[in-house]
Formats: sequence, C-alpha cells, structure tokens
Amino acid sequence: MKPELIYLDNNATTRVAPEVLEEMLPFLRDSYGNPSSMYSFGGRLQKDLELARERVADLLNCSPVEVVFTSCGTESDNFAIRGLVDAYPEKGHVITTKVEHPAVKNLGPYLRKKGLRVTEIGVDRRGNLDLEELKAAIDGDTLLISVIYANNETGVLSPVQEICEIARERGIFVHTDAVQGVGKVPLDLARLPVDLLSFSGHKFHAPKGVGGLFVRRGLKIRPFLIGGHQERSRRGGTENLASIVGMGKAAGLARSRLPMEESMVRPLRDKLEQGILSSIPHTEVNGDPERRVPNTSNVGIHFVEGEALLLAMDKHGICASTGSACASGSLQPSHVLRAMGVPFTSIHGSVRFSLSTYTTEKEIDAVLEAMPGIVNRLRDLSPFHSMEDVQAFGA
Ligand code: PLP
Repeated sequence: MKPELIYLDNNATTRVAPEVLEEMLPFLRDSYGNPSSMYSFGGRLQKDLELARERVADLLNCSPVEVVFTSCGTESDNFAIRGLVDAYPEKGHVITTKVEHPAVKNLGPYLRKKGLRVTEIGVDRRGNLDLEELKAAIDGDTLLISVIYANNETGVLSPVQEICEIARERGIFVHTDAVQGVGKVPLDLARLPVDLLSFSGHKFHAPKGVGGLFVRRGLKIRPFLIGGHQERSRRGGTENLASIVGMGKAAGLARSRLPMEESMVRPLRDKLEQGILSSIPHTEVNGDPERRVPNTSNVGIHFVEGEALLLAMDKHGICASTGSACASGSLQPSHVLRAMGVPFTSIHGSVRFSLSTYTTEKEIDAVLEAMPGIVNRLRDLSPFHSMEDVQAFGA
C-alpha cells in the first residue's frame, strides 16, 4: 500500500489553497478576455486585476501602484537588480551575500561581465550576516545592496532593517528577495524602507508562474521585460489574470493566517526539530535557532548521504529536500551551508523540512516515528560511520 503523502517541502512550492482555485476558475472558463481591451468583455476585468493588486498591497502594507506583477520570483529578482543597474549606469558596484538564492547569486557573473564589481558578504556559523563586513565593502561607487530576506535553505532572517539604515545614510538602494518571507512573517513596507522587494505566489498557496516586485514609489528602474504598456509600462506582456487573481486571494488568506504561523506552524516545526535531535545522535540544526521563519528546519544528520535519506523518506511518503549535491541539480553541496562553515559530514546529510499551515501534528508524529529507523539503516551502510568518525565529531 502506498503511504500517505506527508508534504514537508513548502519552501520548494506549496499546494494551491482550495479558496484560491475557486477564485481563479471563472477566469479560466468564461472571463478569458484581455484586461487591456476596449470592449467591456475584456476591459471590465481591469477591476479584478486591480483588486488583486490591492490585496497584495494590503499584505505588504504598501500602495497598490507600487506592486508590479511578474511571472515568478526569479523574474522579480532579475527585474530588480538588472533594472536598477541599467537605470544607473554611472554606478558600478553591487553588494550581495554568499547565501542568496541562485536567482540573485547567478546574476553575479552576468553583472561582472557587464563591467560591474560584485561583493558577496559572508555569514557566521549560524547563517547571520556580518554587518561590519557589509559596511567595509561600501564605497562611493556602490549602487545597490541586495539581500535575501529569509533564507530558503535555513530559514534564517537577514537584518534587513539595519541594512536599510546603513544604506540610507550612504544613498544606496536596497533590494530584498522576500520570496521565503512573504506569508510567513509580517512584512510592513511602511516601516521597512527597502526600495525593491521580490515575492512569488507559489510559495504562499497561489499557483506557480506568478509573482511580483514591490517598486517604491518614485524609484527609477528600467523595465526588464520590454514590450507593451501593461503594468504602467514597467512590465510588458498580457497579464496572467487567473493566476494574478489567485495570488490576490492567496495574499488575503496569508494575511488572515499569519498568526497561525506563530501559534501553529512554529510549535510543530519545533516539535519536529526537538524530536529529531533527541532521538537521533549526531544531529544539529543549521541556522540561527531564534532568527528564523517559523516553518523551516534545516537539520544536519552526520554520516548519511542526503540523497539516500530523501529516497528512504520517500518510501514513507515524506517529501523534504536536501542541501547536498544532486537534489539541487548541481555537483556542489549547498553554497549556503558551505558559507556557514557547516562540516562536510553534516552538509552531505542535511535535510530541509519546511512546513505550512496545512501541516498536521499527526504528520509530524509519523515523521518522528520513521526517522530514527531510516537514519540507523543508512548509517549501518555508511563508510563514514565508523567509531573513529564518531570520536572525531566529539561524541
Ligand atoms: N528566491 C528565493 C529565496 C526562493 O526560495 C526562490 C524559489 O525557491 C526564488 C527566489 C525563485 O522563485 P521562483 O521559483 O518563483 O522563480
């Protein structure tokens, strides 16, 4: 019999909320007009587009005119950074961090090819950014600091407020990739003075293929997708109306469910984490235990291979992900864990569990029941798991 699915990979993507799907369906069935059309069958849909924009703006506490819809978080990150760099060709330096998502990290080589300098700031063992290093990296040529809001692998929150203060004094723009923050922690753009903020619908129960960029009012930025006049000429392309409407609904749900992240998701995440740490020897949590989003736990399980672990967990219906080589499709182990100085024996066995408001205690209990047996079996097979290794680890 196939085991029941236990989905703990919500940082990869989330289920579409049933309410979101309901809201989208009319736009996939009958209301298929183009919102930019002159006739009412299309033009009347403008109001649905704008309602979605208002709902997203409400979640972020910004003005609807500051919300530009895009196709995903990756596009939003590219739009923010490339759009700003192109708008200010007289400046030649961008600061980012060693723990960015590839949607930002992999822009580094592109920017360098264009002749810009890119500085990546490091983190400590808990994944916290070194603000002194950041300050020292700034010079008269610095245009932008781009920093991840909540890390997708560890959940660690960056000190974005402090970074804004540092940047503001020096006339530098701030972009934050908040793809893993939106819907998990309160975000108030009236208080957080970032210039640009990226988000992605499928991380908070909207469908894949829709996202957005907050662009602070008055900011000069070049469009990334050059085309028609949509999105006030900031992003060409016929609007993905059904998905945008879905993301608007999801934003409303996220806003009302935000307290559940603390009251429900965090205790379940902590139960999972404590349960693993206490039942499986040689395990540790990667990332600051306090400065984290409530849904994410990255657990280093020494002396096992992440891929083997995920496959064994899959047999129990458990979906999670690993920061080690193959799962991410690259040959390198996680650049985030390496930047944190996580030891080799743990990086390879690191597993990221990411919960949502749909996660139940029964699911967490089932994972806690299965994990010790899975890990013990794999360790018995592992060439690394000898007594010397255990002693070297300090056990
Ligand atoms: N930024 C972060 C922090 C992410 O976690 C992701 C996706 O995992 C992205 C950007 C890219 O978002 P999308 O999949 O919508 O392109």
